Amino acid sequence: MARAIIDEKICKGCGLCVSVCPKKILRLAACRMNDKGYNPAEVTDQAACIGCAMCGIICPDSAITVEK
Ligand code: SF4
Ligand code: SF4
Repeated sequence: MARAIIDEKICKGCGLCVSVCPKKILRLAACRMNDKGYNPAEVTDQAACIGCAMCGIICPDSAITVEK
């Protein structure tokens, strides 16, 4: 099963991954911050991930690894 793994320590909360996910299963965590002070991206429904890797490609900090 495909899944997207987000390294929250690296994420800067830019939201680019959220905007490109075709399944709309990424969001910025509203109530959590990482050590840098950003709201990190998180996966809302891992089972719905199709492994397209759009999120990993667009992330400017390579914070997302996609397993297929
Ligand atoms: S791999 Fe594709 S479907 Fe899965 S979270 Fe990333 S953009 Fe969304
Ligand atoms: S594109 Fe990368 S840095 Fe931006 S919110 Fe998504 S995981 Fe974080």
